[in-house]
Amino acid sequence: MPIRSQDQGVAESSHLTRWETLLSLILMDIAFIGMGIMGSRMAQRLMDSGHTLRIYNRTRNESCDELIDRGAVWCESPAIAVSPTTLIITMLSDPEAVKSVARGETGILKQAARGSVWMDCSTVDPEFSMTMAKESADKDVRFLDTPVAGSKGPAEKGELVFLVGGESDDLEKARPIMEILGKKVIHCGGPGQGSAMKLVVNYMLAQSLLSVTEASRIGQSLGLSEASILDTLIATPVAAPVIAGLRPRFEGSDRETHFPLKHMLKDLRLARKSQLLDLPLLDAAIKRFESLAGEGNSDFSYVYHAH
Ligand code: NAP
Repeated sequence: MPIRSQDQGVAESSHLTRWETLLSLILMDIAFIGMGIMGSRMAQRLMDSGHTLRIYNRTRNESCDELIDRGAVWCESPAIAVSPTTLIITMLSDPEAVKSVARGETGILKQAARGSVWMDCSTVDPEFSMTMAKESADKDVRFLDTPVAGSKGPAEKGELVFLVGGESDDLEKARPIMEILGKKVIHCGGPGQGSAMKLVVNYMLAQSLLSVTEASRIGQSLGLSEASILDTLIATPVAAPVIAGLRPRFEGSDRETHFPLKHMLKDLRLARKSQLLDLPLLDAAIKRFESLAGEGNSDFSYVYHAH
């Protein structure tokens, strides 16, 4: 943990020392791995709050260069990124991606400092998080599964909701960072339970989107206008609150990709790994998103427009 001011006068020392001590607790070197839609924005926010970042991404992209221009340290491998830090954050597509940065000669677990905390914000399945927690524990690295609810906008504004699985002591060490990135931290249970909750949340998100899509089509076939259907659904308790936020994407005024459709399909498939056999709504949702897999890089709200 760096102390920013090297130039500490004796006369002002008692107040400044306390202040610097506080700063050193608050400002830490962080290894941040994964500079996609979410990771790049979360990293920017951490830099805005004064933290020093050591960054790695499989591909050195524009977001990496922007962060480097602002003082982030580019690292050629995950191992190099994590070696001098006490906090590691990963924000990657799926279990395969996390595995590829965690294991091997250039992986996180090769070089992570003993006692360092690793927050994996990627959406993965609970079994995979438990495997990572075990492999981390073998290296004396404290693993937390910390997937997030909230997309691009909340990532920029620090309004994510963290769903945490892991030990309370480790959560408390990472909490100040989660509070910069998010508006709420929910401790869901032990290792894997944050990931479990995230799959529950995204199941609901998919169902909300699919049901409003179908409701709108039914209404329009009965002669109602799209605007009046959305106005009515949003004004009543029947629509999930997220629908109001998605409306600009339905109406075409927002055409950006916030949450890629391929990631929603991945999350539904991960939820299908649950032992339950009879999940007809989940199966229907998977089928619908699979039929649109060719649009995997579009926003998941593409499903609203597709017929
Ligand atoms: P994204 O833009 O697609 O970024 C994915 C990241 O994973 C990139 O940094 C990518 O590196 C890296 N990656 C993919 N495969 C890899 C591999 N095999 N090895 C190493 N790195 C690999 O995704 P995102 O939207 O930021 O989402 C990241 C995670 O957060 C996903 O699990 C997603 O489900 C979840 N999430 C997303 C949102 C959202 O609204 N976007 C919201 C909540 C949670 P390259 O740049 O080299 O491809």
